[in-house]
Amino acid sequence: PRVLRVPATGLVVLVGVSGAGKSTFAARHFAPAQVVGSDFCRGLVSDDENDPSATEDAFDLLNHIVAKRLERGLLTVVDAANVRRRDRARLVRAAKDNDALCAAVVLDVPEGLARERNRGRAGRGPGDHVIPRQQRDLRAGAKRLDQEGFQRVHVLNGPEEIDSAVLELER
Ligand code: ATP
Ligand code: MG
Repeated sequence: PRVLRVPATGLVVLVGVSGAGKSTFAARHFAPAQVVGSDFCRGLVSDDENDPSATEDAFDLLNHIVAKRLERGLLTVVDAANVRRRDRARLVRAAKDNDALCAAVVLDVPEGLARERNRGRAGRGPGDHVIPRQQRDLRAGAKRLDQEGFQRVHVLNGPEEIDSAVLELER
């Protein structure tokens, strides 16, 4: 199995399209309080977790929580798509500002599998229409993540690699 080394007191940025399995991966490998999710934050600033008009405020909140946790030296996992370079840049900046290391974990699954999984989540998530654009953004930038300031970059290709991955915290 792939052993993914991630900083024990740093930032872990999950990257993947809707339905790639980010929230599932986060719940499997990390404690609930270590995971800061865009859906969770959207739910705090809106009465509807799927309300797109709450996105900007949700990400302001997410970035605020991330910064506070890193200031406090706590391992923090960002559960959001993070397929765009500018979204990742804000997170890399937060890690730098707090002298924390950061790792990217890319969950790359075929578009068809992401769609299929999303179909099993009635009324949840952003909807299938975002997947092709997210996939394009991801493929365009995912090969150069090490140049964006991540000290560790792990790309997991397909469900087998994702399911068998083992995490190792580096101190
Ligand atoms: P979003 O960006 O929309 O929040 P996500 O990347 O967080 O999506 P998940 O919610 O983790 O995706 O997974 C989507 C669906 O796929 C869920 O129904 C989940 O149970 C299923 N799923 C996720 N990962 C796996 C896996 N490794 N094996 C089997 N099913 C999975
Ligand atoms: Mg999710």
